[in-house]
Amino acid sequence: MSIQHKAHTLVIHCIDFRFQQQIEDNLKVRNLNGQFDRISWPGVSKDFASIAKSAEVSINLHDPDEAIIYEHEDCGAYGEDNSLETHCNNAKKLKARLIELKPDIKVTTLFVTFDGIKEI
Ligand SMILES: [Zn+2]
Repeated sequence: MSIQHKAHTLVIHCIDFRFQQQIEDNLKVRNLNGQFDRISWPGVSKDFASIAKSAEVSINLHDPDEAIIYEHEDCGAYGEDNSLETHCNNAKKLKARLIELKPDIKVTTLFVTFDGIKEI
């Protein structure tokens, strides 16, 4: 398969409307406007199978050099167990899968809170 269109980055985040503005602002700061594939899915990396499948399509079609995973607090898809540790573990698992798909991809895992964004 030939690569016709290359994306700089693959962005993965939840559907939750409460965090979209912060994510958009963060993408702007990173100068990524118009240069990324976007997967928006309830629960982000919690639904590992769905995200991994979508990410594989992005990597195969657009060969992104970087990926950014935006987890967020108070995620409805997580229900009771919304701990940072659980988000962290899921994000790490997804990160490992992305690296499996593309060994030299640079993956950043972030946690969006109502007060800001931090690395996890
Ligand atoms: Zn969510």
